[in-house]
Amino acid sequence: MSIDFSQDMEAPLVTSSLTPQDEGEFSLRPRSLQDYTGQEKAKANLSVYIEAARRRGEPLDHVLLYGPPGLGKTTLAGVIANEMGVKMRVTSGPAIEKAGDLAALLTNLSAGDVLFIDEIHRLNRAVEEILYPAMEDFAIDIMIGKGPSANSIRLELPRFTLVGATTRAGQLSSPLRDRFGVQLRLELYTKEELARIVTRSAALLQMEIDRSGAEEIASRSRGTPRIANRILRRVRDFAQIYYDGVITKEAADHALDQLEIDRLGLDALDRRMLTAIIQNYGGGPVGLETLAATIGEETVTLEDVYEPYLMQIGFLTRTPRGRCVTQLAYDHLHLERQGQQQFSV
Ligand code: ADP
Repeated sequence: MSIDFSQDMEAPLVTSSLTPQDEGEFSLRPRSLQDYTGQEKAKANLSVYIEAARRRGEPLDHVLLYGPPGLGKTTLAGVIANEMGVKMRVTSGPAIEKAGDLAALLTNLSAGDVLFIDEIHRLNRAVEEILYPAMEDFAIDIMIGKGPSANSIRLELPRFTLVGATTRAGQLSSPLRDRFGVQLRLELYTKEELARIVTRSAALLQMEIDRSGAEEIASRSRGTPRIANRILRRVRDFAQIYYDGVITKEAADHALDQLEIDRLGLDALDRRMLTAIIQNYGGGPVGLETLAATIGEETVTLEDVYEPYLMQIGFLTRTPRGRCVTQLAYDHLHLERQGQQQFSV
């Protein structure tokens, strides 16, 4: 039997990209390496590079940050600027349409500034080519005039630090990737780290929270601080109305059950995706495109937002022939294997 999953359902709480409901997120952003929880490996390396650059009185080498959305790439770029004592300018790959847009940005930088380009894998070719000499020689070549009288002049730039962020390092062209002296991969956070982040955020929002409340939110946030902070705000509403304003495990459970986020942080779309693989494709393997079409979602959303967590908790595997669901997912969804793939106990 096949089920139609194409009906579009909203899953706003789980999406780890920035949405209008995250307004105010900025006030929760840590500004120093010390306040930046987790990512110990990346932080340990970065603090050495920052300290060394500071002692030499030079800007930091260009930094590439990669990993799923909502893990703190923008935040870390801000931390870098703050620790280096410089300003940060923020833009994104799709926002820079023409080579001239990037030239204007670059020529307005001051010495040492951090230029943060989010979604750097989405820069177009012409723009990317301006970036190569800018990153390497701190200069850009600009064409003046048209036709036979056109002339190229070289403009010197102040020495700056480019911090690029991407969810897909594999999509970056290798000439661009190679120009980043520092490349750091951000990982999903552990439950303990997320509980610390939630506790810190609650204090900033002037909310009382107990340990079990923070742990409950942490264990349902799919390893992602942005989702943890977003859930915290929703739980705060329930706590204010039903639980004397204190975020307890009970308040968190109440809110999360209402929001249909289960014990492991899976939402309706996760369940739709896993159920589709099980019921339409016998547990897999199924190609990503086919799966996306079946449940009416975009492949990038499945790949960037949903899969990393489902793979981390061991519910999904990627094989050369497609995605497969594991026994753990069957158990979680209370579904049985059918036909040939009958599971013997
Ligand atoms: P990304 O750029 O990777 O999508 P952001 O830097 O925008 O993610 O982070 C999303 C939110 O999560 C931030 O507003 C911040 O409050 C929180 N956050 C991210 N990383 C951390 C961290 N290491 N410690 C505390 N809060 C964090």
